[in-house]
Amino acid sequence: MQETRTVTIDGVTLTVIIERKAVKNINARLRDETLMVSAPQRVAQATLDQAITELARRLVHRVHKRRVNDEEDAITLVRRVAARFPQPPAIERAEFTLAEARWGSYSAATRTVRLNAVLLRMPRWVLEAVAAHEVAHAIHLDHSPSFWRLLRRACPDTDRAQAFLAAVSWFARAWTTLPPVERALLAGVSDDDLGEPPSLT
Ligand SMILES: [Zn+2]
Repeated sequence: MQETRTVTIDGVTLTVIIERKAVKNINARLRDETLMVSAPQRVAQATLDQAITELARRLVHRVHKRRVNDEEDAITLVRRVAARFPQPPAIERAEFTLAEARWGSYSAATRTVRLNAVLLRMPRWVLEAVAAHEVAHAIHLDHSPSFWRLLRRACPDTDRAQAFLAAVSWFARAWTTLPPVERALLAGVSDDDLGEPPSLT
């Protein structure tokens, strides 16, 4: 017995082909935009629907993560940023991730820098400022005054990037609540009249 439907996960629409057969667990395979699901004959519809959503999300994220990491080699980027430090720390691994509700993270145990995939869509100096922040954690694990001193020295764009990211977070949350007319207005706003932001010392 085969059933076909579509499901939209994080903006990606997939064709789902569900086949009930003699299997123990619900399994799914994603090929391009088609999700092939095999399910036990007697599994409840609600259980199956929930499993499909979860499996689809996991697979969509896995594919997108691979795509993003193919687009740019995170370790090359992070090491280039690390070289700007007075005493460049050794970073073992770096990757773009979709899993975290943070802009970046550093694991001291594995000397790994993780960067939120969305940073790749932002101006380069913002991406590099987050990379620098995480690299600085390889030297100072906390946010002590020494951490900020070192970071601002290696990355003078630090404060500007923090402000940029705060605005991005605000915007992402506010987006759906903005009146459509104002959303359209925002898309057309040019910052020509603002000039360069005042420098931070
Ligand atoms: Zn930090």
